[in-house]
Amino acid sequence: ELAKNKENMSLSIDKINLSQLLENTLLQMHQAYSREFELHGDSNLFAYTDSQKIKQLFFILLDNARKYSDDKVIVTATKNEHFISVAIEDFGVGIPKEQLPHLFDRFYRVNQDRNRKTGGTGLGLAIARELAERLDIEIKVESKVGYGTCFTLLIPINDDFSEVDSK
Ligand code: ATP
Repeated sequence: ELAKNKENMSLSIDKINLSQLLENTLLQMHQAYSREFELHGDSNLFAYTDSQKIKQLFFILLDNARKYSDDKVIVTATKNEHFISVAIEDFGVGIPKEQLPHLFDRFYRVNQDRNRKTGGTGLGLAIARELAERLDIEIKVESKVGYGTCFTLLIPINDDFSEVDSK
C-alpha cells in the first residue's frame, strides 16, 4: 500500500508556500553560481502542488536563465483568484521567434555554436514540459533576440484539494 504511493510518477500534493520555496531556490542558485536572482511581487503565495516537482521545474528555468545570460535574473510572483503566476526573466541572448515552437522538444538546442560554451543536452525543457503537464501548469514564453527571455508559469492554486487535505 505505502510503497505504491512512493513511485516516481505519482504526485505528492501538499499545501506549499511558493514564496518560501522560491526564496530558498533562488538563494541556492545564487550560492551555487554567484549570480544575482531577484524576487519581486506578492509574498505568502500558497498553492496545492507537489513541492519536489515544482522545485525541479523552477530549477530548470532558472538554470537556463543564468546559462543564457550574464546579467541578473528577475523572478516575479503574483496571484489572481485561480492562478499564481511566476515569471522568470533574463536579459540574455534571447530565442529567435521561429525556434520557439521547438523549444520543448527532446534534444532540441537553438544553436549548437552559440550553446557550445554552456554545455547541455537539450533535455531540460522537455522535462520541464512533462513536469508542467503533470502539475497542470501552463508555460508561456516571450523572447527577443539580443534582449532576453521570459518564461511564465501559470500555477493553479487548487483550493479544492484543501477539503481532501483536512479529512
Ligand atoms: P540542458 O537543459 O539539458 O542542460 P539545454 O539548456 O541545451 O540543455 P533545454 O533546457 O531543453 O536544453 O533548452 C533548449 C534550448 O533552448 C537551449 O539549448 C537554448 O538554446 C534555448 N533556451 C532555453 N532557455 C533559454 C533562455 N532563457 N534564453 C535563451 N535560450 C534559451
